Amino acid sequence: MLNHYTDKEDCSIIATLRGITFITITIYASLVCWVTLLTIVTLYFMHNFGKFGDLFLCVIRKCFIFCLCRIMIEDVQLAVQREQDSNIRAVHSYEKYNDIDTINAWTGSIAEENPDLVSRSFFTTSYEGRPVYLLKVGKSGSNKKAIFIDCGFHAREWVTPAFCQWFVKEAINSYGSDEEFTNLLDNLDFYILPVLNVDGYAYSWTNDRLWRKTRSLNKNQKCVGTDPNRNFDAAWCTGGASASPCSTVYCGSTPESENETKALGDFIRNNLSSIKGYLTIHSYSQMLLFPYSYTNLRAKDHNELNSLAKSAVEKLATLHGTVYTYGPGGKTIYISAGGSDDWAYDTGVKYSYTFELRDLGTYGFLLPESQIKDTCEETMLAVKHIAEHILNNA
Ligand SMILES: [Zn+2]
Repeated sequence: MLNHYTDKEDCSIIATLRGITFITITIYASLVCWVTLLTIVTLYFMHNFGKFGDLFLCVIRKCFIFCLCRIMIEDVQLAVQREQDSNIRAVHSYEKYNDIDTINAWTGSIAEENPDLVSRSFFTTSYEGRPVYLLKVGKSGSNKKAIFIDCGFHAREWVTPAFCQWFVKEAINSYGSDEEFTNLLDNLDFYILPVLNVDGYAYSWTNDRLWRKTRSLNKNQKCVGTDPNRNFDAAWCTGGASASPCSTVYCGSTPESENETKALGDFIRNNLSSIKGYLTIHSYSQMLLFPYSYTNLRAKDHNELNSLAKSAVEKLATLHGTVYTYGPGGKTIYISAGGSDDWAYDTGVKYSYTFELRDLGTYGFLLPESQIKDTCEETMLAVKHIAEHILNNA
């Protein structure tokens, strides 16, 4: 037979060849690195370099750091390879990581296929000109309370857009069959923003898997991007934020300096009468946080927010035993000013929470696709629990 290779076999052969090439290059680079280091060290001890001794020590130090960096890069490369471990070949899937074009196309088709439950609106245009879409999920009705949920604030936190997509799928699948979720959808609107930082997310697919910030250029600066979660007017650019554009926690030139954060701010300000809850989804560290992050002072609704967080993480743990810590951001992780949760709370959205999804650092931002389902399922329990409380108390 002429054509005896199936597509699958072809792919596995290519993958194997790629794997061998990768390993060969890696071993070769490491070997060169350490042999060079060893040679320089030996030369240093064998000869008296006089006034050049310091220079040699400096070279040894630089060389050693370079060799260590190689090990770290190899670790990241291997983790990236492990991350996309799903065998799903479909263009869009809820159990794999979808790129920004696929997610944008999905927002269109999911709204088109479920017009009585989902509608899509244009949210804003990103710095690099990409559309940012917002989905509204819920049965139409008048004077409904609403909950705003955003994902993809930080580019590298890939499991978070996966969660926003999962939420919409679950709403559609549960409506009419699951009493609890049907009740929520009848009486609440959910605004779902699958990816806020679309430019950063795209960049994390094409150039730098661990990119965090937006991709806006900073005037007269070589470093690109602003941390969208340090860019809100909540003790802006004080503790835990940096005024340096090269920092990963750069607060931006002004509050809401980014198209994407400005659009979020505008939307919440314009819909304050209906929006009762704000859930911003990040990863990783398995935490449920609430205001404040910019100060150690207690929020005026501390007791209610704290007990709701406690019962939500207990609910979450019932499915797979995943343990979350909870508490005000500043005391639970670290002080960080300019976050969207603190800003939303001070603006008047009482039920304001930050989720930090799986895991605790084994894979970190590079959570394997095989964990998307379990992560989303357990998170749904906590989100629905908070939504129920908002419906009954807000
Ligand atoms: Zn984050």
